Amino acid sequence: MPKINAYGNNHSFTSLGPLSIDRREVTADDVQMDILYCGVCHSDIHQARNEWMNTVYPCVPGHEIVGRVTAVGTNVTKFSVGEIVAVGCMVDSCLHCEPCKEGEEQYCQGPHGCTMTYNGPMKPDKTNTFGGYSQMVVVKEHFVLKVPANLKLPGVAPILCAGVTTYSPLRHWKVKEGDHVAVIGFGGLGHMATKLAVAMGAQVTVISRTPEKAADALRFGAQKFVLSTDKDAMKAHELQFDFMLSTIPTAHNINPYVTLLKKDATLAIVGCLTPFALPTDNSEVAFHRRNLAGSLIGGIAETQEVLDFCGKHNIVSEVEIIPIERINDAFHRVNESDVRYRFVIDVANSLK
Ligand code: NDP
Repeated sequence: MPKINAYGNNHSFTSLGPLSIDRREVTADDVQMDILYCGVCHSDIHQARNEWMNTVYPCVPGHEIVGRVTAVGTNVTKFSVGEIVAVGCMVDSCLHCEPCKEGEEQYCQGPHGCTMTYNGPMKPDKTNTFGGYSQMVVVKEHFVLKVPANLKLPGVAPILCAGVTTYSPLRHWKVKEGDHVAVIGFGGLGHMATKLAVAMGAQVTVISRTPEKAADALRFGAQKFVLSTDKDAMKAHELQFDFMLSTIPTAHNINPYVTLLKKDATLAIVGCLTPFALPTDNSEVAFHRRNLAGSLIGGIAETQEVLDFCGKHNIVSEVEIIPIERINDAFHRVNESDVRYRFVIDVANSLK
């Protein structure tokens, strides 16, 4: 088994540092790649710090991977050595259940569910998976993506999670030209949601706690910027939106946002993957037949679709490129909402 260098941690309370991990040998269906860039998703922080109470250590985060193919198995037909490719949040699923057959492997109902790129113990042997804060990775061909040639690679990496996680609900709830869409929380996911919804022709309003982000929101195509702490501004937007997408990463009070939905409209929550801080006031939901929903990343076909959509519309993430040694400072700054708008690790040039 090849031993490679990685960055991760062994306990929730320790910072990330150098680790040595094993990668499997390339089998007939596998693509092996050297990792060039890896985005830093807020999920990496939740997972490394065991905030979802399910982390298996050692934890090597990273599920926004762009790499160059170094070897392919004998059954591989779509990729060849030297090609630039990408890997997102999943590396396996049963491929036979209903959701898998529908191309929604993230909702796999097979015996083990889908296997996440990191912290996704491969059952039945329970080997852990290790993500993109590492020199190379071996992934089944089905879970490897093509990268549009016209996009700058560091800005592509966040499309693999932040992009598809926001594209998928925008598509599922059929956001179309002229719809009034609100994006709540303007970080990694939020800025991608804004760019994608604008490219779909929606009229986008960004709802944020941070006034300094207003100019960027408008620059990325939003029509309006609303401060969530401004009660009058929030009140003025009651019953305004056809679709809302919340990317707030922590337990919070969802009720002030629900009231902004039109009758029959949907608020999809992708950020908060824990109970809310306060119960939902169902009178606000019932009186206007509003819908509260969640959504998880996107399937492999949809991940390819969003990459191609970004290629067509020339959309990349706004990134700050860092060497791997700065990852702990990057985690701190993401938690402080002090990143414009995604850190991307220059893995190839800093993880030797
Ligand atoms: P970021 O930290 O980059 O962005 C989140 C933004 O939310 C911040 O920039 C800030 O924006 C706002 N925010 C942060 N804390 C609070 C708070 N306490 N109250 C209100 N607003 C807040 O995170 P990401 O975009 O990378 O990820 C967002 C969440 O989505 C994470 O929890 C992540 O785990 C989850 N996620 C879910 C996925 C899914 O499949 N459902 C997939 C990927 C990620 P502002 O300054 O504008 O207020």
